[in-house]
Amino acid sequence: MISRRRCSATGPKPRAMFECFCPTRRRPPLTLHSARRIDGTQLAKTLRLEVARQATELSASGHRPGLAVLLVGDASASAVYVRNKVRACEEAGIRSILEHLPADISQDALLHRIEVLNRAPDIHGILVQLPLPAHIDSHAVIATIDPAKDVDGFHVANAGALLTGRPNLTPCTPAGVMAMLAHEGVVLRGAEAVVIGASNIVGKPMALLLQAAGATVTLCNSKTRDLGAHTLRADVLVVAAGKAKLIDGSMIKPGAVVIDVGIHRQHDGTLCGDVDFDSAARVAAAVSPVPGGVGPMTIAMLLVNTVRAAELQLKLGVPDVPH
Ligand code: NAD
Repeated sequence: MISRRRCSATGPKPRAMFECFCPTRRRPPLTLHSARRIDGTQLAKTLRLEVARQATELSASGHRPGLAVLLVGDASASAVYVRNKVRACEEAGIRSILEHLPADISQDALLHRIEVLNRAPDIHGILVQLPLPAHIDSHAVIATIDPAKDVDGFHVANAGALLTGRPNLTPCTPAGVMAMLAHEGVVLRGAEAVVIGASNIVGKPMALLLQAAGATVTLCNSKTRDLGAHTLRADVLVVAAGKAKLIDGSMIKPGAVVIDVGIHRQHDGTLCGDVDFDSAARVAAAVSPVPGGVGPMTIAMLLVNTVRAAELQLKLGVPDVPH
């Protein structure tokens, strides 16, 4: 495991975050001036190459993995996300179909379309881009997707599998965060992990994954009193509140690892996250940037899940994926 290499006496010099979990190392000074930037783009690239290799193997055996992406309406942010997902599929050798459905489609019509895709043998993954228009019940939509094709991992069967320690298809964003932490060599066993945001698609599964890895997890939400009292205890802080620059350096424990899930378009057109990167980087040992952090990993994990779903459906065994 990478963490052992980093903590070994002969390996590369560990950074502060690794020292704080490694009893054989002296604690770092409290004033760190430049955190390590956790490069999600690079790691995602590596994962996508591995997915492409697996997809090629499947295709060679006559089973090209296939993903159907359903976009309802014209929300511009959703359209961009969907385009990026479809493009990533093509690059990885995964067949993808994008169905752009009108914003006023009835719920019944949408559910019927999903049922057709559930039965399609050449479609192994189904993704319905959220959010949906207000007249459609997203729970009903997710419940209609065959759990074996639920590459977002949102179906209650997959959520329950994760809860009970038998993950099948894991939500892409939290799975991507776990892959980033593993790649950075962060030791989670015994660590204090704080997750800000308790949504079904990010915060809750994130907390379960961290807990399963041996961390002691605090899950914060908008009603949490004195957020800083929690974040200042965190060895690992995952921020998914959907509030631009909610967390700054004064709320971060020196030497912590900070993962920023949030994504916001600023007035000047640039993107930022839920973390004020510059001030966080003066305190933390490592911080993921926005853009270039969790976003590319979410897409990479969608591809991982699609190949995994294809493998499972074809009963060829489960590929070795970083869940
Ligand atoms: P959501 O709105 O469904 O949930 C937000 C959660 O944060 C809620 O549990 C809420 O109680 C909590 N929260 C809000 N304000 C808070 C505060 N001040 N203190 C503590 N908790 C607070 O959002 P979501 O779908 O989980 O997404 C969160 C963010 O992550 C958004 O910015 C979203 O765009 C982003 N996101 C990014 C990716 C990616 O791939 N990078 C994927 C999914 C979501």
